[in-house]
Amino acid sequence: MRRPLLFLVFFLIPLVSWGGGPILVDTDGDGLPVAWKDGIIHFNTESGDLGRLSNEEAIQMLRDLLERWREVTINGVSTVDLTIDQGAGLGDINEENIDDFFAYCPPDEVCASEDPPFVLGSARSGQSPIIFDTNGEITDLIQGEGAKRSILGFAGPRVMDIVDGKMVITEGQAVLNGYFIDCPEGASAGHSCQNVEVSLAEFEGVIFHEMGHFIGLDHSQVNLTAAIHALNGQADELNAIPTMFPLFVDGVAQGTPHFDDQVAVSELYPSDSFRSEFCAITGTVYESDEVTPMQGVNVVASNLDNQLEEATSFVSGSYYTGTVGSCDNQSGGYTLGGLIPGVSYQLSIEKISQAFTGGSSVEPCDPPASGFTAAVIAGTFSCIVGGETVQNGSSGTSDIVTTKSSTSTGSTGGGSSGASGGCSLLPSP
Ligand SMILES: [Zn+2]
Repeated sequence: MRRPLLFLVFFLIPLVSWGGGPILVDTDGDGLPVAWKDGIIHFNTESGDLGRLSNEEAIQMLRDLLERWREVTINGVSTVDLTIDQGAGLGDINEENIDDFFAYCPPDEVCASEDPPFVLGSARSGQSPIIFDTNGEITDLIQGEGAKRSILGFAGPRVMDIVDGKMVITEGQAVLNGYFIDCPEGASAGHSCQNVEVSLAEFEGVIFHEMGHFIGLDHSQVNLTAAIHALNGQADELNAIPTMFPLFVDGVAQGTPHFDDQVAVSELYPSDSFRSEFCAITGTVYESDEVTPMQGVNVVASNLDNQLEEATSFVSGSYYTGTVGSCDNQSGGYTLGGLIPGVSYQLSIEKISQAFTGGSSVEPCDPPASGFTAAVIAGTFSCIVGGETVQNGSSGTSDIVTTKSSTSTGSTGGGSSGASGGCSLLPSP
């Protein structure tokens, strides 16, 4: 049975720029991803319940799922180096006092924002609130009336600072929508309970995804076809769905990290072993003139022997400086890390689905880049020992020329990249 499309959105303060892989890129500085200061993730919880979960149960689940990001391994090697720090409790947060804790711009309002580091409203409090929206009312307040029926949660960094010339995250915030788990256990939607529910096991996938945003990860598009199959009720390729896929496809599957998620978090918080034991493929994507770098092309590397489960992506030109989000930045570089020595990888390119915009977008382009055709790159790519950067495959270099006409205009993405607003139901990708 199909159910309505449900969204896992990120939430950012206006004027913040962000990119594929990491949710934030320092486009005014080094053009590199932005991580929490010193690799320490701070969070503060409130004292309320989350749907039918008690406060204690909700906090325990949250802690376990933050740990799940910290404990990521690739090929049996610990690849993530981060610390999780739970701060003091915040008391009860509700519709009355939400403005004291959560920084947001209400729907249909234009809000002033400070210059970098970017803060708004109550931010820069030294706290990183995670709000248990027990009945969805706070989701409606922040994302717009009715949003509680389609948005399961939203999260993101909210305060950045520059330390020794490098941008870092110092505060984050999240809302988890308990409206989806508020019926008595075993009750089914439309019967004894009126709204669409997900199981607690599936809701773990929601929290895991939102904590991915909280620690600084963007959405990613890997195995779009498998996700569409799953949304249509075919359950045979669920292991192909990344946690950070923009849609809630299957909470249980998305509650454990896919290879793409493992690489993304390891790139942001790399352990020494991640750098020394794994390889990367780097290259540049160009328009058809073979000269103009092209932003916004999803480049995927997949293990030839396990293409669905061992695939990782990078949107070309995600690491860049200068103009924010307009997708015409002359930047087409990509880096696909976490690759295992001795394994043969196939490279391919594809468009990001036009369905992924706003809070469901995959940066750096919103709407996504278009005007080129998907392709599999000839040959395979592999490395011999860890630490190598691969730029040549069996049939040529890692540079990729697309069919995008260099003379056409208006066919790449464009438009604003303001903070994600309320997502309403979007058509299937
Ligand atoms: Zn999301």
